[in-house]
Amino acid sequence: MYRAVVGEKDYRKAAWAVKNAGYATDPKYAEKLIGVIETNNLTKYDVNTKGVDLDLRIAIDAGHGNNTPGKRAPDDSMREFHFNSVVAKYVVEELRTYQGVLVEITHDPSGIRDIPLKERTDKANRWGADAFVSIHANAVGSAWSNANGIETYVYTSKPAGAVALATKVQAALIASTGLRDRGVKVANFHVLRETKMDAILVECGFMDNPAELALLKSDSYRRKCAQAIVSGLAKQFGLKKKSGVVAPTVPKEESSVDKNKPSAWAKKDWDEAVANGYFDGTRPQDNITREEMAVVVNRLRNNLLPLIYKK
Ligand SMILES: [Zn+2]
Repeated sequence: MYRAVVGEKDYRKAAWAVKNAGYATDPKYAEKLIGVIETNNLTKYDVNTKGVDLDLRIAIDAGHGNNTPGKRAPDDSMREFHFNSVVAKYVVEELRTYQGVLVEITHDPSGIRDIPLKERTDKANRWGADAFVSIHANAVGSAWSNANGIETYVYTSKPAGAVALATKVQAALIASTGLRDRGVKVANFHVLRETKMDAILVECGFMDNPAELALLKSDSYRRKCAQAIVSGLAKQFGLKKKSGVVAPTVPKEESSVDKNKPSAWAKKDWDEAVANGYFDGTRPQDNITREEMAVVVNRLRNNLLPLIYKK
């Protein structure tokens, strides 16, 4: 505990270290202490903060790669990585609207490489992450099932900081999605065991349950999950929004055609192409450039090559 507090230059981390070590009986101890420090502007007494890293470092991890065997819907209408990576992207975007937060990802956003687990945890450890969130979609096996709901994992030793974070993220996910609460669970997963910071792994619904698969494919559900994960992180670490951040405004279209909405006749195919990672979901009615075409062709090629050369 002393190692976590003595020498700690970030009052938020120090407050949480005291709380997480079990020295405070008040469950809101860290939030209250941080509140006292901030309302009384006590950080003005900080000495020599120049050059000291006061930022909270959050590592975001999208599980698997686009072609990882087995990690897909039973009918292969969606790859798990695509859900994971889009939610991860939304989480990163949302976290950047908060003060004093640095974000790093530990997966390959193109999905081409399924980064080995050791490489992911080494990166988070080396970077000095304060929190690690691994994003997944669940499955019982390779056939359709009735399994349902959301669950969040921490390591088997139940580290206090990770449990506190997992509890907040799980509650936010259930509140915003309305899916069944499977609770906070423990598992001996590599990313939970080998990370030196508060690490959690979220399973945002079952790919092998047809109703939940439909949700996992939808952009609105992905955004809901991302916002819930960020609100759990914000609660845990007392994060505050950057001032002057305005919500992005949708530009007015000159013509009556909304380029950002697919035509009725193309909607099914467009949604399927987005769910499978060929397009990023933006501007369905816009023209395609040569470089965008190259990206799509390569995504298709990378998905087909393993099938062609399968033994
Ligand atoms: Zn997974």
